[in-house]
Amino acid sequence: MKTQPIVKFHLSKLAEAYQELLKIRSSVDEHGIIAVEIFHGIEKEFKYLRELEEPSSAQVKSLEKRLIQLKHYLQQFDRYSQLSKSFFQKITSQIDSQILQSSYSYLAAKNRARQLFEDFRDGRYFDIGLQKGVDQLRHFIDLFRAKMPSLNTQVPIGDLDIFQPIRQNSDEEFDLKDYLSKQIDTSPNKISVDRIKQIKDGYYYLYSKSLAYQIQGKEHKLAKRLTLLETGLRKQNEQVIYKALRLIQQLVQPTAITSPTNYINTQQKLIKLTGISEPDSTIILRINNNRPLRVVVDQDQNFVFEDIELQFGDNTLICYNQDFLFLDNHKYHLHIHLERHYPFIGMYDPLTQKAFQENEAQIIVRCKICKNYEYDFSVEENNNRCVFPKCDGKEFWNWEDREYWSEQ
Ligand SMILES: [Zn+2]
Repeated sequence: MKTQPIVKFHLSKLAEAYQELLKIRSSVDEHGIIAVEIFHGIEKEFKYLRELEEPSSAQVKSLEKRLIQLKHYLQQFDRYSQLSKSFFQKITSQIDSQILQSSYSYLAAKNRARQLFEDFRDGRYFDIGLQKGVDQLRHFIDLFRAKMPSLNTQVPIGDLDIFQPIRQNSDEEFDLKDYLSKQIDTSPNKISVDRIKQIKDGYYYLYSKSLAYQIQGKEHKLAKRLTLLETGLRKQNEQVIYKALRLIQQLVQPTAITSPTNYINTQQKLIKLTGISEPDSTIILRINNNRPLRVVVDQDQNFVFEDIELQFGDNTLICYNQDFLFLDNHKYHLHIHLERHYPFIGMYDPLTQKAFQENEAQIIVRCKICKNYEYDFSVEENNNRCVFPKCDGKEFWNWEDREYWSEQ
């Protein structure tokens, strides 16, 4: 029995559905800056299937699935941009920025909105969608609005407050489309030079690992896929490169952070970050642009950073797998808010009997023996010894030491 005409018919129906999707796109994303590579990939897939003598029904089905995902993705973006438009612009024109900057729910909403925009732009999380992230944004906005009257406005997305930092750095009139076209390469069939270099570095790294296996008479699980990647890189064939990356990705445990939750408030100065990733690979963690920390993932796919030190207020933690970053170039951005918490509040200096104030951290020390707090000048007064009865401690932590802030 010949089923081929049905498949071809199905394909032509899908092409019509895609035209409908393009209409949705032009209404929710008029500049066409969202998930450009995904659209491009789908178009190539259409072209490829049309040229086939006999496209299989599985191929057509898989294309259909992607079209459905794309529709949801665009709907999620639409919801995101409606939310952002109706919130940020009006808020910044009505409420003093000082007040906004001190509102945690406002900052969380702003960070979430910025991150979501980048995710949509790069087509990230296409398979699972960004519904959850948009829900989260809604949640932060609702939290903020609980105290504010309802606000509505219609403004271009590029005018939003969340793009302020970019605007400030551009000399001319800010144009979002311009900005993004400089940031991402939207031309078809071309991966940026930096991206190619990153993929190459990733390839060499894995290749050296696989070579080490070979010498021991074993085969690295990625060996065959690396050969494909090498071919793609050598021929500079984008399709082959992306195919190889996808295939490698299937065999590598994706990196995920299990704790802490993004956008939490905490009272703890020292926290622990845990997650899962590919065994034996290296995870990098960068806190507020400090020197990066690194750990190796254990055989059970777990990794942990102990005693991460937070600053008061907002903290940005950037976490990624160094070895496999080249696969999707994705870094986790966590925003953790350390609420003001001073362990010495409510206590008194033993010598002066004065209650400690928040802003005195730099002149308060903590005894290493009895763990009590006292003014540094009280210690000086006491021949550089702890003032507490029967302690006699001679060593102290100051506000720059971790132990100074701990609860014990
Ligand atoms: Zn002491």
